[in-house]
Amino acid sequence: MEFMFLRQTLFIYDNPVSDTFPTVGIIGAGQLARMSIAPAEALGINLLILAQDSNDSAAQIANHIVGDYRDLETVLSFAKKCDVVTFEHELVPLSIIKSLEVAGIVVRPSSQAFIYSQDKAHMRERLANFPAPKSYVATSAAGVSGYPLIAKAISGGYDGRGVWKVDSEDELSEIMTQLGRVLIEELVDFDYEIAVMVGRSPHGQATTWAPTQTIQKDGICTMTISPAPALSAELSEKAQKLALDIAQEIGVVGVMAVELFVKGSQLFVNELAMRPHNSGHWTIEGSQTSQFEQHLRAVLDLPLGDPSMTAPLAVMGNILGQDNSDMYRPYLHLMARNPRLKFHHYKKEARKGRKIGHVNLLGDDIVELTQEVQHALDYMSGEVDE
Ligand code: ADP
Repeated sequence: MEFMFLRQTLFIYDNPVSDTFPTVGIIGAGQLARMSIAPAEALGINLLILAQDSNDSAAQIANHIVGDYRDLETVLSFAKKCDVVTFEHELVPLSIIKSLEVAGIVVRPSSQAFIYSQDKAHMRERLANFPAPKSYVATSAAGVSGYPLIAKAISGGYDGRGVWKVDSEDELSEIMTQLGRVLIEELVDFDYEIAVMVGRSPHGQATTWAPTQTIQKDGICTMTISPAPALSAELSEKAQKLALDIAQEIGVVGVMAVELFVKGSQLFVNELAMRPHNSGHWTIEGSQTSQFEQHLRAVLDLPLGDPSMTAPLAVMGNILGQDNSDMYRPYLHLMARNPRLKFHHYKKEARKGRKIGHVNLLGDDIVELTQEVQHALDYMSGEVDE
């Protein structure tokens, strides 16, 4: 009997066709796909990635196909090799996602939900019953009033690109000349920004992580603190309820970031991202279940994991590329200085200002954690040398 068992085990090992473990296809091969590889591997889930180039962050270390996500034939033949298809960026044309659905491919999140992370005007319209900055679409600067205000590209913006604080009609006219159509928003004089990460499965099971404060510099998130330290318990619950309600309302499947402004006891929904997100990077060490594992569980309709924190506080710092970045050399000094610092490198070309990695630090003293993370960032960028 023992022999039979051994043969059977070997048979399964040698013959992946009989493998019952599904294949998740991820369109996009950046750092979000890369950070999904470790939990997929732990769970035994197969990943197949559609990369633009074999040197892309995730393609360096995972099964992938090189092809253009804007080409239907390419995406369709990729999708046919997968049990479920998901995304790591918002750039996949909606028409392609709809065509996959028509072809019977399981796409999560679906086109019906995904549109709200691609199109800010649709999102504002759909979430009209949720608290948000007052907004409308304008096609001409004439008739727009209430400066200063915020103008946004309706789709395609990221890291603050595509968002402008506008002080006058002349400034708005200039933006209009480029874009033709923008979303005009009331400028909210908020106290700080938070993000609530939520995971939701096709069964409708949903979980949230502790709300995270996101600290931005020049439109780019530089640090996150979880749980958001200034947020009262009452407001934290309200924010998580809001995120869960939005997830249910639009029927999202997978992990979603709900970005919010906090002003006094008011919350305003800023935007949605339907994928693991920078504001959830702390969950890799800071939560029982990381956002990357939760996303895989959710898109496969597996029961969701426990999102509770592994420490009272988690601080994350984004490492931005410099002209001559070498992230490896600083390891020696930083690891010796603080053995609790956790480093994540994306193996991307270090263009100036580009997110190339992050550090996580867990503990219970907010001053110590933020100082240590800031020191690590400053040391990496060469601003301090000890
Ligand atoms: P992106 O697509 O680049 O993430 P966002 O819509 O999140 O664009 O806007 C980027 C940043 O611009 C926000 O994090 C916030 O700091 C600021 N911002 C956006 N909308 C408003 C608003 N209505 N009022 C005040 N600040 C805003």
